[in-house]
Amino acid sequence: MKSKALAFLASALMLLSAASCGEGESSSRAESSLADRRSAENNGCLKPELFSLSDSRSIAQLNIRNCDSLFLTKSYAAAESFGDNDDSSGHTVTLFDLADGSSVKTLSVPEISGMYFTSQYSDHILATASNTGGSDWETYLKVLDLANAETAEIHFENSRLYGCSACALPCGRWFFAASPGDEENQYTVLLMLDPALASENRHPADVTALPDSEGLPHHEPDGCFSEQRAKADRLEDKYGVKIYIAEEVLDMPENKEYDLDPMTRENSDPIDMNQSLNKLDQMLSRFPKEFLRRFVTPAGGGLRLAVVSDLVSRDESREFRAAGVTWETGAWVNIAYCDAEAFYYDGILIHEMWHAVEFLVDRKYPMDEDKWAALLPEGFNYSYDSEGFITGSLASGNTIGSEEKKEDIYFVNDYGKVSPFEDRATVIEQYMQEDVLEPEQRVSAYPRLKAKAEFLAEWIKPYYGYVYFEKQQTEAAA
Ligand SMILES: [Zn+2]
Repeated sequence: MKSKALAFLASALMLLSAASCGEGESSSRAESSLADRRSAENNGCLKPELFSLSDSRSIAQLNIRNCDSLFLTKSYAAAESFGDNDDSSGHTVTLFDLADGSSVKTLSVPEISGMYFTSQYSDHILATASNTGGSDWETYLKVLDLANAETAEIHFENSRLYGCSACALPCGRWFFAASPGDEENQYTVLLMLDPALASENRHPADVTALPDSEGLPHHEPDGCFSEQRAKADRLEDKYGVKIYIAEEVLDMPENKEYDLDPMTRENSDPIDMNQSLNKLDQMLSRFPKEFLRRFVTPAGGGLRLAVVSDLVSRDESREFRAAGVTWETGAWVNIAYCDAEAFYYDGILIHEMWHAVEFLVDRKYPMDEDKWAALLPEGFNYSYDSEGFITGSLASGNTIGSEEKKEDIYFVNDYGKVSPFEDRATVIEQYMQEDVLEPEQRVSAYPRLKAKAEFLAEWIKPYYGYVYFEKQQTEAAA
């Protein structure tokens, strides 16, 4: 049963970009900076950023949740996470390609109690470890081979070592210095070693996916939806996305603004859920298949969709109601949308998908907000106030349907004036539906809106090699 009233405005689609909103600080850095750990904490993610050494331009953002430290090796930027107390993820190192910031893999790191050495000359991590078997204790080195995802050990003839230190040479070998700890003869030995040749106890390191559910307890969908879960599985295979239905949506990582209200036996039934999944299939079929799979990262992660009964604002005083919300956690981009609204309006997923695209493309090609601002009316400032959109306190005008000349139409609707994220999402939402819109509702009828769509097409093209919102998918959902 669809009992929810559709207090529905195409323009009230909403939301989000919680992770990006208000993050307008300059990314310019001193010439010598290689990497900068962003101070902004986004849904538990720190967003380190990579900068080019030659011109200090931002190259890419690294997406890893709970990044405790960041270091460079020869080939990678490595983000280390020690895991949360309420999380079983443990100590992990996620590797990012130095050239473009794309995630390569995540390795589980064996427990290390000793000292830890990294270098920009090597793709090995060395760590001191001890066997404390009575009087036979020894110090040895654990080697983590990042490129081959293997661990190994190096043991020494003289096993009692103190004051260890290590540094790599440009050739990839390491100097290792330690004192044998002989109380009579205080001296230091300096060894040269090649960790690539370490053979003792060599075995594959645990290559892991990034933590998915943030350690939340798993929720099974109500048994009455078992056929629908199987259907969702087939859609997951077809599109390469993850789909959460019914009570499973409670496994989604926390959204800071909204609680996800699941579709349950009480508020819907298997027929509703079937319709909902058919609709999702139809909406996803509008996007090129390879487009959806681009969200999947080798380090784990991808695009995750949750079909919900309602999005409940955590701030009860807010009148603004979201039909969809998109947010980022680690390597995952998450979209939750209300089933009833999506049933009548395709634009919801198109709109949220644009937010998702921004998260993805921005990792490699950060949006140049100065260039975007050049596409806005002189002296215009975004309100960053979605509530003002509901209460009518936003300045009106410059939108489709207002009385101005075509050249003065800069926004699809007033919701686009809330933030650049909503501006761009409303433009693409409208643009991708040109085939069903009246001519005077189309983005292409207005030069300023068209310029925005063209700018966004240029921005995403290097990432995908094509422009998904110009490549309308006509094939019907199978
Ligand atoms: Zn939005």
